[in-house]
Amino acid sequence: MNRKKIIIVGAGASGLMAAIAAAEKGASVTILEQNDRPGRKLLATGNGRCNLTNLGIDPDAYHGTDTDFCRDALRFLPVSDTIRFFSKLGIYTRNKDGWIYPGSMQASSVLELLLLKAQDLGIRIRTGTRAEQLIPGWTVKVPGWEYEADAVILACGSRASGITGSDGSGYELARMAGHTIVKPLPALTGLVSKETPAWGGVRAYGRVTLFSDDHVAAEESGELQLTEYGISGIPVFQISSRAIRALDEGRTIHVSLDFVPDFSLQELRAFLKVRQEDCPYKHEKDLFTGMLPDKLCGILAKTADPAAAAKDYRLTITAGRPFETAQVCSGGVRTSEVDPVTMESRLAKGLYFAGELLDIDGPCGGYNLQWAWSSGACAGHFAACMDEEDNVR
Ligand SMILES: Cc1cc2nc3c(=O)[nH]c(=O)nc-3n(C[C@H](O)[C@H](O)[C@H](O)COP(=O)(O)OP(=O)(O)OC[C@H]3O[C@@H](n4cnc5c(N)ncnc54)[C@H](O)[C@@H]3O)c2cc1C
Repeated sequence: MNRKKIIIVGAGASGLMAAIAAAEKGASVTILEQNDRPGRKLLATGNGRCNLTNLGIDPDAYHGTDTDFCRDALRFLPVSDTIRFFSKLGIYTRNKDGWIYPGSMQASSVLELLLLKAQDLGIRIRTGTRAEQLIPGWTVKVPGWEYEADAVILACGSRASGITGSDGSGYELARMAGHTIVKPLPALTGLVSKETPAWGGVRAYGRVTLFSDDHVAAEESGELQLTEYGISGIPVFQISSRAIRALDEGRTIHVSLDFVPDFSLQELRAFLKVRQEDCPYKHEKDLFTGMLPDKLCGILAKTADPAAAAKDYRLTITAGRPFETAQVCSGGVRTSEVDPVTMESRLAKGLYFAGELLDIDGPCGGYNLQWAWSSGACAGHFAACMDEEDNVR
């Protein structure tokens, strides 16, 4: 019987999935978690509702130095099997335009069911236990103790979000085993602009186009949140990884906001002209009333050409919001140093990686949790089957 001793550092989404996959293969699994409880970030996902995956997961939508890296793991545990896995745990899933949630709409129920499964499989979770040193061979040192293992899975997450435990200490542990780290940067977050129109608190449907050194780099539509520092909202989150990395590379970044994407500029001018003729009593500031939020109407009316500004409101992006406000990080353990099929280090046998710690990040909509589930399942499975002839599924 397989009694491989596996230590997993981190009891987040990827660590818990890795633990279950390894224990199901007969391994003896211990998770070390520095927080006083497992899964703190998981509890915060989807505004506490946990958007656990997405029916339309497209590997091409992930970002990273080598985006192909995520393909094998996403094939190992695809969305359909992920949903099946959670259904078997007891979750009835709810589909909101392809974004999948637990029927309870409570992240806590996802965590609770994972923990029940872990308990049933005899997985030990040592909370309040911070891994401080990793010695190839394998030994994991924690304050006052050290754990010996046949394999170690680093599932420590990233620096993103203000949630305790998101301190990036996993990068240091990976470095101790000789790995290099692609500079972690905030992603899925707002963007800070040089211009700060007085539009804080406004939400408007629109399209945002990202220009990197004057070339279109990305485009997204949806509800834009106009803030005192610049822009936010899901479409902005979706382009933020690219924008922040390009800024870090010294590129010039600006965005164009189109608040009336259903009209061409010509159509908009014609539409406004008819409105002006129908309602000659209207002032210029009233032109967009009923079409766009009030505060935004006032701002557009003050520009030299309100119709042009509504179609192409330009902002120079100077920064991304800090790590504390980001949902994920781009960057992380360099994926060329990790086997994409098994998640095992190419530099140190018996060391595996899972989740956000790796240089892979996805857009909003369940992509990042799917990456945590798939890479976690892969790492756990192959760590447990290490050196065995049947280390295929
Ligand atoms: C507010 C918010 C909302 C989100 N919503 C969604 C969503 O709805 N859908 C989605 O797909 N994604 C969402 N995400 C992203 C998603 O939560 C993460 O991508 C995912 O949780 C990453 O899982 P992980 O296991 O890699 O890392 P984590 O969940 O961060 O787990 C890592 C664990 O490792 C522990 N750890 C770290 N270092 C050590 C150490 N040295 N010793 C011991 N323990 C250590 C940490 O304490 C932590 O518990 C959201 C993120 C945030 C912040």
